[in-house]
Amino acid sequence: MAERQLIQQINMNGRACTLVIEKGCITEVGAPDLIPEARDSVWNAHGLLLLPAFRDAHVHLDKAFPSDRWISRTPVSSLFEQFKLEKELLAGCKDRRKELAVKTLEAMLASGTTEARVHVDIDPDIGLSHLELMLQLKEEYASRMTIELVAFPQQGLLRSQSTPYIREALRMGADLMGGVDPAGVDRHIELSLETMFELATEFDKRVDLHLHDPGHLAVYTIEKMLDYSAEAGMKGKVTVSHAYGLGEVDSGLVAELGSRMAGEAMDLATSVPFDTAMPPVPLLAASGVKISLATDHTGLDAWTPYGHPDILRRGRLLAEKYIWNDDLRMASVFQWMSRGSLELKAGDAADFVLVKALNAPHALAALPRRQLVIREGIPVAGSLWQGNSGFAAWRNIPERSEWADEYDR
Ligand SMILES: [Zn+2]
Repeated sequence: MAERQLIQQINMNGRACTLVIEKGCITEVGAPDLIPEARDSVWNAHGLLLLPAFRDAHVHLDKAFPSDRWISRTPVSSLFEQFKLEKELLAGCKDRRKELAVKTLEAMLASGTTEARVHVDIDPDIGLSHLELMLQLKEEYASRMTIELVAFPQQGLLRSQSTPYIREALRMGADLMGGVDPAGVDRHIELSLETMFELATEFDKRVDLHLHDPGHLAVYTIEKMLDYSAEAGMKGKVTVSHAYGLGEVDSGLVAELGSRMAGEAMDLATSVPFDTAMPPVPLLAASGVKISLATDHTGLDAWTPYGHPDILRRGRLLAEKYIWNDDLRMASVFQWMSRGSLELKAGDAADFVLVKALNAPHALAALPRRQLVIREGIPVAGSLWQGNSGFAAWRNIPERSEWADEYDR
């Protein structure tokens, strides 16, 4: 087996280069005509564009509906009715839970996602059954995707009396403590947040809260989260997901809250919803808040029929929403859906996606097929992927001369 993999003729942010990969890391970014050594394995990318591998900051793998039968949905009048409806509909596809989760994971990988934060439903009715499945999948997919699991009391931590189950989930290996609307769902902001932060502290876990509550209630809830985070010494360990309400209040208030969030290193995950208000990403980013993009919905589910597993598509939606049609702002979207910059350097993990596009803005606009998805130097998905054979997989991938040469769009 080759000790070093050379990928020649890669387009990295407009520059042709050769990547040298050893033991999962980039060890050299060389000239496009870098001469290989005898022991090197070489693959020529013939100008494919490198994008940093994607991270989906908020996704559910236990909520997908099958795509081979239509599950009818009807309008609901409240969030609680929605919770009830979802439970009933999901119970009907219980036997296919693993198959549907695997399908979602494969679709995410094929679109370039190699890191994901997965929220897992837990309540007294389903107990820890979903978590058991997700822990199993996390292990099965460990060589292809880094998965974090959030113990998520979808029906409300206090409202559904899920605390003992969540405690058990954290003991079993969930990575984060989840929650939902301490005011709107649990009807007791202080007690709900106190319980969340106490459990997180007890098990040394991070926190990620679903916040759908509107306007000033959302602002107040985040202020309280900031207080609890500071009190518990959890700076940098707390995420607020959605926070739709921040799109409904005065921008001065959001900027002020944003600087407090930045001070406590509280980050925000948004799925760029089009059917509700959304947090003002440019303003929060300018205030120093770390933003991450998320799919949340990956296909048909009880909340929307319009989900999609491709995080790049969410990035494009964000750019469309803010009418970012210049190179600089289009390219800026990538910082919110990956860990790396558009350029990898020696010492970085070899986690990247290769696409047929001219540059990052082109990729955002065209959403080209992901030709290869690479994690720790090994191809793990993509249209050229030949299956799981570790580092040697490179040898089986055809040269570009064998493919159609047009750009996808
Ligand atoms: Zn969610």
